[in-house]
Amino acid sequence: MLLAEPDTRLRESSVPIGEPGPGRVRIRVHACGICRTDLHVLDGELPGPKLPLILGHQIVGTVEEIGSGVTDLRAGDRVGVPWLGWTCGECRYCRSGAENLCDRALFTGYTIDGGYAEAAVADARFCFSIPEGYSDLEAAPLLCAGLIGFRCLRMAGDLAAGVERLGIYGFGAAAHIVAQVARHQGQRVFAFTRAGDADAQRFALDLGAEWAGATDDAPPEELDAAVIFAPAGDLVPAALRAMRKGGAVVCGGIHMSDIPSFPYEILWGERVVRSVANLTREDGIAFLRLAPEVPVHTEVEVFPLSEANEALDRLRAGRIRGAAVLQVD
Ligand SMILES: [Zn+2]
Ligand SMILES: [Zn+2]
Repeated sequence: MLLAEPDTRLRESSVPIGEPGPGRVRIRVHACGICRTDLHVLDGELPGPKLPLILGHQIVGTVEEIGSGVTDLRAGDRVGVPWLGWTCGECRYCRSGAENLCDRALFTGYTIDGGYAEAAVADARFCFSIPEGYSDLEAAPLLCAGLIGFRCLRMAGDLAAGVERLGIYGFGAAAHIVAQVARHQGQRVFAFTRAGDADAQRFALDLGAEWAGATDDAPPEELDAAVIFAPAGDLVPAALRAMRKGGAVVCGGIHMSDIPSFPYEILWGERVVRSVANLTREDGIAFLRLAPEVPVHTEVEVFPLSEANEALDRLRAGRIRGAAVLQVD
C-alpha cells in the first residue's frame, strides 16, 4: 500500500523489493501495526518523507534472506522492525548512548520503506527478536506503542523516583500498554480521554486505571507525573495544572498542535515539560524482555492490508480500541 504524496490515499501497488544489501535482511511481513505517526506522515505534518513511501514501523515477520555480513539472524527467524531503522554510530549522540537522537538517523516507514507491504528490507542490527507467546498480531503494537510508551514511562519516573500517581492523556495504543506496565510497577494510573468518550474511559478502568475522566477534568489527587500521547498541545498546560511540584509532563508524540501560552505559575515549582524522541535499541531489548513478565496483553483491531486506508480513517476518528494492526498474510 503505497503513499505517492502526502494528503492522498494509499494505493495498492507493485514495487520491486530486491536482494537485501550488506548487513540487511529481507523479511516476509506477517503483520504491521498502525501508529498515529503514520497519520502525521500521511498528512504531511512531518518534513521530508521518502516518496513514494511504504508506511509502517511496527513490523512482525520472518527473515527470508540475509545479506552479506549478517551473523545474528538466519532465514526463518521471527523478527520485529521498529521505527528506528538506522543510526550513524559516529555522531555525538550515537557515541553517548543516545542513538535515538542521531543526527543522521533513518526511520522505518518514513525515510525508509516500512511494513504496509508483503515484504520489507531492514538493517539486521535494528531488528528485535519477538518474545514467544505473542502472536504476530499481538506483537506488532509492542514495537512502537509499547517501545515509545515504555521510554515515556521511564522518563516520567518510577516509584523509586517518587512517581506513584501517573496521569496518561490520550488512551490509545501506547496508553493501553503503558497502563499495564505502570500497574505492574506498583504505580496508580489516572486516565484522561476526550470528553464524553465513555468507551475509552471504561477501557482504561478495565486495564487498571483507578480513575478515568476528560482531559480538562481535575484528577481526584495531584499527579506525580504525566505522559501525553494525544497530539493536542493544549494538554500540556492542562497536565501542568494537575501536577505536583517537581513533577514531569512527558510528551510522547512526534507531532503536536501548538502549545498555547500559559502562566509561568503552573510551571514554577520545578515542574518539567519534556518530549520523548524515538527509541534506542536498549529501550527495545529492555521492553521486550519486560513485556512477557508483566504480562502485557495487547488488544488489537485487525484489518487486511488492502484496508489500510479504512484503518487509518478509524484511527483518525478515535474509533480504535487498543491498537490497529494490518494482517498481511
Ligand atoms: Zn509509532
Ligand atoms: Zn548518529
